[in-house]
Parts: sequence; structure tokens; C-alpha cells
Amino acid sequence: MLDLLAIAAHPDDVEQTCGGTLLRMADAGYRTGIIDLTAGDMGTRGTPQIRVEESAAAAKLLKATHRENLHFPDARLENSMAGRMTLAQRIRELRPRTVILPYWEGRHPDHYRTSEIGYEACFLAGLKKIDQYTEPHRPSKIIYSSLYANVTPSFVVDISQQFERRMESLLAYKSQYGETSEGATLFPDEAEIRDRLSAVARFYGALIGVRYGEPYVVKETMRIDDVVTLPVKSI
Ligand SMILES: [Zn+2]
Repeated sequence: MLDLLAIAAHPDDVEQTCGGTLLRMADAGYRTGIIDLTAGDMGTRGTPQIRVEESAAAAKLLKATHRENLHFPDARLENSMAGRMTLAQRIRELRPRTVILPYWEGRHPDHYRTSEIGYEACFLAGLKKIDQYTEPHRPSKIIYSSLYANVTPSFVVDISQQFERRMESLLAYKSQYGETSEGATLFPDEAEIRDRLSAVARFYGALIGVRYGEPYVVKETMRIDDVVTLPVKSI
């Protein structure tokens, strides 16, 4: 049983987009988990088996209590009935209260398809009759990680205390980010990755007056009960 579940297309997506939030929630005592839909079998570097092993090491660094890979086909992910049902079944078993999905538009088709598959699986998971052996469960909140989308976030999570550990979790993918000649023109080196990720996290952090942040979009309106103590200065 999880409090927070991140669903992503590829191993290392979570580490780049919402790992700081997962870690912050784990630091606060919540049970967090990750489902990666593909194992990156079309990737230039490494193999699916290596990627999954590296993702397990990264999950430890993010203090996630659960991580699994559904081994759907990488780079040609389809929103199929079988895929949605498989994911819905896992949601019923893991019972997360909140789910993080990728933003619904993007450059990589796997990312926006994961957004769609994830949403539909969350819906299906709540239907009593789709499976007689598991209890229905529908997450109450879906938040969309919008770090790669050039959109105004609905809110930003302060990950200043988690940023360095999130970076370590990304570098756990040694087959992708280690010094290797294979695909060297396609892959940035470690210094470049650090520079890029910290620039983006600094940008979103600056929006809320902190050092590092991760942005999210929600489709529904956020409710506020106390307008006196709202954080983030207006002037
Ligand atoms: Zn990806």
C-alpha cells in the first residue's frame, strides 16, 4: 500500500522530473513507489536488464519502497487495452492515494502516451467489475510532472533538501551517464547533466523563492483553506 506512486515511461524519467518530490515525501514518512512502463530496450546504451538493475539502485537512493518495470515496448508504447488493464491491476494492488504522471504533451510519444495510459488505468482501477480477485481502488489525486513542458505550473515543490540526492539517483544509471564512448555524441557528460538539471531546478525553485523546485500541473482547481499563511511572497 502506497501513499504516492509515480508512473513513468522509461527508467530514469522519474529521477529527472519528480524524484525530488518522491524523496521529500519519503523523508516525511510516506510510502512511495515507482512503476516504469518500459525498460528502455530501444536505448543506444545499456540493455533492458542493466537499466532495470540500475533503476532498483536509484529507487533505494530515492527511498522508494516499491519499484517495478512492466516491460512494455520502448519507443513504440501503445495505449492498448492489455496495457491499461495490467497497469490498473497494479494500481489496485498498490493502492496509492496520489499518482504522479508525465505531462500530457511532449516531444517523446512514450511520455504523453504514459500520461494517457496512466490516467485511464487510474480510472479503470476504480471499477468493481474489472477484476473479481482484487478490490477496486481509485487514486484520489493525479498530479502531472511538467518539468519538460514549457507550461506554467499549478504549483512547485521545494526540493532544495533533496536535490543532491536526486542527482545521485540519476547518476546510478551508470550505463547511461557513465563515461563511455558508445553514443558519445548523443549523450551529455556528467558535468553537462549536472549543469542542465540544476539550471532547470533552480528556475522552478526561483518561482517560489527557494533554491530548487519541481513543477506540477493539476487539471482541477486547488482548494485553499487559509489565505493568511499562504507561502511565496507577492512583492
Ligand atoms: Zn523518458
